[in-house]
Amino acid sequence: MGRISSDREITAPLDVEALRAGWAAKGEERPRRHARLALGARTDMGRVRENNEDKFEFLEPDEPAVLATRGRFYAVADGMGGHQAGQIASELALKTVFRAYYADRAPDVGESLKRAVAEANRYLLDVARMIPERSGMGTTLTGAVVREDELFVVQIGDSRCYLLRDRRMEQVTEDHSWVQEQVSRGAMTLEEAETSPFRNVITRSLGAAPEVEPDLFAIKLEPGDRVLLCSDGLTGMVDDGELFEIMREGSASVAAWNLVDRAVEYGGKDNVTVLVFDVRAIEPWEPEATGR
Ligand code: MN
Repeated sequence: MGRISSDREITAPLDVEALRAGWAAKGEERPRRHARLALGARTDMGRVRENNEDKFEFLEPDEPAVLATRGRFYAVADGMGGHQAGQIASELALKTVFRAYYADRAPDVGESLKRAVAEANRYLLDVARMIPERSGMGTTLTGAVVREDELFVVQIGDSRCYLLRDRRMEQVTEDHSWVQEQVSRGAMTLEEAETSPFRNVITRSLGAAPEVEPDLFAIKLEPGDRVLLCSDGLTGMVDDGELFEIMREGSASVAAWNLVDRAVEYGGKDNVTVLVFDVRAIEPWEPEATGR
């Protein structure tokens, strides 16, 4: 990445022109199918925190070759660290992951996501090492790539991905948290985990260690699916039963607003961020009809 100045650190640009140049060279590949999506997203500081360390980002390229190989990318990150470092961590991580993912030529989405995550991790560590106020910064990352009718989810930390399908909602990701580890090995009940004073302790994050191993999930999308990415500011305030009730109603955008409203109404103890998308249809690819 080269030398990091504080100027560079803040801006770390998502260089769309460079991406376009790369995409132009990607060739003539075309998607066979296209998932028509409807998107909603919202982030809120909450009622207690004085800044917002959460962030969401998405990129929906329109070049057919890029859609065929890389797809569309949606992500939520929840940063941590004092002196505004959490805000910078989530922002830098998302920019770096998006840039690295779209610059990667490998056909395997999972491998590209892993490399992109490793690059963001290295970058955060470099920034933290070179700028003392930034030491200790880190971030979660929950990302979703939609390529044709496939959903790939990449997971680090305790932000989450849920899938609503056929009027049932399932949590796709598993938290990388101390309490989740206790629950998984039977040492703690879910109820105990929800009230544990250690419920915010995460066991994996970007920027914490030289190596980070993300979880990867792959799901075949179906028309009618609704996908939710969210930070723990939502799931810490609103239980799964109520999430399900809210997720069943309204458009993706309305659901996103309602989810955040509910978390804030219940105390808003943390920053809260949600990104929701609906699979409106899965259609044969037609170049002139490239909508969401
Ligand atoms: Mn949080």
